[in-house]
Amino acid sequence: MSQLCTWCGSEFEPQVTGRSVKRFCSKSCRQSFHAACRIWGEEAFGAGEVSIFQLQKCIARRARRTQRDPATEQGKPTGVHAGGVVEPMADAR
Ligand SMILES: [Zn+2]
Repeated sequence: MSQLCTWCGSEFEPQVTGRSVKRFCSKSCRQSFHAACRIWGEEAFGAGEVSIFQLQKCIARRARRTQRDPATEQGKPTGVHAGGVVEPMADAR
């Protein structure tokens, strides 16, 4: 099932890798999107439209999401929870 690239609008066949959703047809489109986001963010910050606190919250949010997502672990062994507590979700399946 093809989809449209977020950056250039070209139709492409997304590769199935892990659980992440591919939004771009190519590496250059992905890089252009992220470069534009960076420029936009820097300009918004410079214009006083966004605070440093809001930007720092973005980083914290992303870090929490990455920690929760086992797909980003890439087969690395997960750490043992402090105190050996097993979360209820672990045995759900
Ligand atoms: Zn593209």
